[in-house]
Amino acid sequence: MNEINLKDKTFEIFIPETEIAAMVHSVANAINNSGIKNPLCIAVMNGAFLFAADLMRKITIPNTEISFIKLSSYAGTETTREVSKLIGVENNISGRNIIVLEDIIDTGITLEKIITLLEKENVADIKIATLLFKPDAYTKDIHIDFIGKSIPNDFVVGYGLDYDEFGRNLPHIYKLKN
Ligand code: 5GP
Ligand code: MG
Repeated sequence: MNEINLKDKTFEIFIPETEIAAMVHSVANAINNSGIKNPLCIAVMNGAFLFAADLMRKITIPNTEISFIKLSSYAGTETTREVSKLIGVENNISGRNIIVLEDIIDTGITLEKIITLLEKENVADIKIATLLFKPDAYTKDIHIDFIGKSIPNDFVVGYGLDYDEFGRNLPHIYKLKN
């Protein structure tokens, strides 16, 4: 399947599943060799669910844990100011070595919010692992520790990534056809 249609758009194959597997493997190797002790991996839902599932099976660090979070935005107080909240954070993650698992980092706005919220929990350390990274769109100074692949500013779907919630189940990653 070199092309697929989701709703009104056509996507073409971009990263086949064999290459995705190699990317996941190389991120896992880097994490395994990083010296991080007793990590608590925190996968950002929904997009990172397949990446997290495949990556975790390749992590060999003793006492590795995984948890799942969602970032929700809501209107705070009496103003319409947008406030972010992390849903699903364990009761006590203070002192933990966190590895945030992301599907894709684009502008970095989401990542920055997540890190700000995690820092309030007094964690010991935060490392970032992302399957995909768009360096040309990135606007933040936050260092990204583990990157599966850097890609151009194309809109991609598949392997967890969606177009209006469709396409998450695709085994390959596709990009929007122009
Ligand atoms: P950021 O806050 O870094 O700009 O965006 C991060 C979020 O935007 C990702 O977690 C993802 O949900 C969405 N996103 C950014 N680029 C893409 C893309 O190419 N495809 C899909 N499906 N989502 C994207
Ligand atoms: Mg996401």
